[in-house]
Amino acid sequence: MALLELKEVEKIYRQGKVEVPALRGVDLLIDKGEFSSIAGPSGSGKTTLLNMIGCLDQPTKGEIYLEGEKISQLDKNQLALLRRKNLGFIFQGYNLIPVLSVYENVEFALQLLKDMNSKEMKDKVMEILAAVGLAEMADRKPNELSGGQKQRVAIARALVKEPKIVLADEPTANLDSETSTDVLEVMVEMNQKLETTFIFSTHDPF
Ligand code: ADP
Ligand code: MG
Repeated sequence: MALLELKEVEKIYRQGKVEVPALRGVDLLIDKGEFSSIAGPSGSGKTTLLNMIGCLDQPTKGEIYLEGEKISQLDKNQLALLRRKNLGFIFQGYNLIPVLSVYENVEFALQLLKDMNSKEMKDKVMEILAAVGLAEMADRKPNELSGGQKQRVAIARALVKEPKIVLADEPTANLDSETSTDVLEVMVEMNQKLETTFIFSTHDPF
């Protein structure tokens, strides 16, 4: 069974009387442990597609299955729970909490989900920060980091709760090409080490 399956997914945005078709029948199969990219120019529907997979928005038509379970028809509360347990998100603009340290940003993701004692939680957070090369920077605030370092924090935050899928919407769009390569390499490394499935979007042609 595929980890994720999309069947003829359509999305039409309605703005008053105007209909904007963003996805016109997308079929997609993703297996556990895959590292997949969605490439296309601005406006091609990458964010829309990731939002459907991420249960942040629902298709106008078509079905989405996660581990065989149809998720395209769950209600808001079921979707929120499913999202919290199964999905990690990485955004172009990092979306770190500015008043929290690197450590606290990652810990916060875990506090929302898992019933762990503080020692277990600390070990888990420090382990993932070390894995993305940020153990030394645990006490810094986001504004004391480079763009690449901020994105590593976001990767750690997405991974710390051991989600089934990490969705990354243009995670390298704000970074120079060298830093982009570094950040992609960290994602590939985490994919190989943890077997987490990654789906990321990019407007760069390959
Ligand atoms: P990408 O992420 O590849 O740049 P998007 O998924 O953001 O593409 O957008 C796909 C299309 O859907 C575009 O034509 C965009 O203008 C339109 N669109 C995206 N979000 C909305 C929205 N909330 N309301 C109306 N149209 C939207
Ligand atoms: Mg987009």
